[in-house]
Amino acid sequence: MKDLLVMKFGGTSVGSASRMRVAAALTAQESRKRPVAIVVSAMSKITDLLLGTMRHAEAGDHAGISANLAALRARHEDTCRELLPEDRRTAVMAGVHGLIGEFERIVNGMALLNERPPRSVDEAVAVGERLSALLVAACLNAEGTPAAAVNAWEVVVTDAVFGNASPLMEPTRQKAREKVLPLLERGLVPVITGFNGATADGRPTTLGRGGSDFSASILAAALDAAEVWIWTDVDGIMSADPRLVPDVVVLDEVTYAEAAELAYNGAKVLHPRTLAPLADKRIPVWSKNSFAPEKPGTKIVPAIAKANGARAVTSMTNVALVSLEPASAELSGVQVMARALDAMARVDVEVLALSSSSYRQSFCFLVRGEELRPTMQALEAALALELAHGYVKPIHVDENVGLLAIVGEGMQGKPGLAGRVFTAISREQVNIIAIAQGSSELTIGIVVRRDGLEKAVRAVHRECELGKA
Ligand code: ADP
Ligand code: ASP
Ligand code: MG
Repeated sequence: MKDLLVMKFGGTSVGSASRMRVAAALTAQESRKRPVAIVVSAMSKITDLLLGTMRHAEAGDHAGISANLAALRARHEDTCRELLPEDRRTAVMAGVHGLIGEFERIVNGMALLNERPPRSVDEAVAVGERLSALLVAACLNAEGTPAAAVNAWEVVVTDAVFGNASPLMEPTRQKAREKVLPLLERGLVPVITGFNGATADGRPTTLGRGGSDFSASILAAALDAAEVWIWTDVDGIMSADPRLVPDVVVLDEVTYAEAAELAYNGAKVLHPRTLAPLADKRIPVWSKNSFAPEKPGTKIVPAIAKANGARAVTSMTNVALVSLEPASAELSGVQVMARALDAMARVDVEVLALSSSSYRQSFCFLVRGEELRPTMQALEAALALELAHGYVKPIHVDENVGLLAIVGEGMQGKPGLAGRVFTAISREQVNIIAIAQGSSELTIGIVVRRDGLEKAVRAVHRECELGKA
């Protein structure tokens, strides 16, 4: 749809009645100028609460379940009361109770079976986004902007990878035309749940933690939107995580590639897969602060005229370094590496960094902490014989590490940058364990000891003068 603006409000941007009112006001303001569809996250901390409740159910902890359900009810009931005038409240409150009832029913099933099947988790956790879509749509209607809540599982069609599903764009496009476009044509603001979708045969799925950004970009691509605005709680994409580095600056413009590298390497401000659906259509994205909407934010664009070298540094803590080494020279290290990577690909594990020593034939790779278990299972199965007969040394795992990444288009044009960065990190007495430069030359990844990570991030920020815009 021509001129369509897709806006996404993150958890803190819909975290209370007053934040929902701000979100509604920002939506109303834009929708007076052009068609607007919005995507909402669950209220802040609610997804964690829902997932925690399901863990209690699996463990048979009934007191834990009751306490969490009470907190879930109280938060949404209070918000509903504060948000809406009395004459509109009853119907919405009934909707809130209905959704919490759906959640409770699934949780009780889990408690009965002492099991937490991924498919049911996805169905249940979507209740967080469905609750906030209900409330935000009600708020818009109460304040005079006609809106309708839409459950994304009627629109976003995905594969069946529960917990980390990928969109199927053609069927999604078709559903978006059937379900969302008519609302826009009638002058309504669709308030679509972030984070969730469903398989073609209707089984609910989710897009991975932080996935509402991705939902917004999927919907923007499916509806041929003109722009995407991602409203969050900081002024845009910054030169580093503002919680780690004091003198960060907001980047006024970054490329899709830079933003994607930053997100993949731990900058929580964007979900790593957000940019992919937008690249073909070159739909620009803004990252903006709903707590300071007058600030310009960061514009994410297909390309920028002048590449500036290093732009930002990111870090990731929950990672593990897995090392493999053949025990005898007869076994080709490259072949072991190929089989290891193949085994990991088959269980959908992502390799964050890979580093090898051709002389010792050994290699190591970095995976996310939560993917360590499937990684080890896959490797031990794929190399069972070699491990049993001692052709490959026992697999070594080091969880006491962290990843730091320096990102920027045109870093290859800055000779000596890598050397300076390594020196700056060493000066802080932080050990560098492995280095991986992405083939795009957009990113230098450095694995360091976990307890030196923050120090290293600050040292790199200083050395590359990232605090000077
Ligand atoms: P939302 O709930 O709106 O999706 P998130 O918590 O997922 O928000 O992401 C925003 C947070 O990302 C910020 O509060 C900030 O602490 C963190 N962050 C990490 N790295 C960066 C960075 N380079 N630039 C901006 N924010 C960052
Ligand atoms: N509510 C989901 C989460 O916390 C999705 C999101 O907020 O983007 O992961
Ligand atoms: Mg987020």
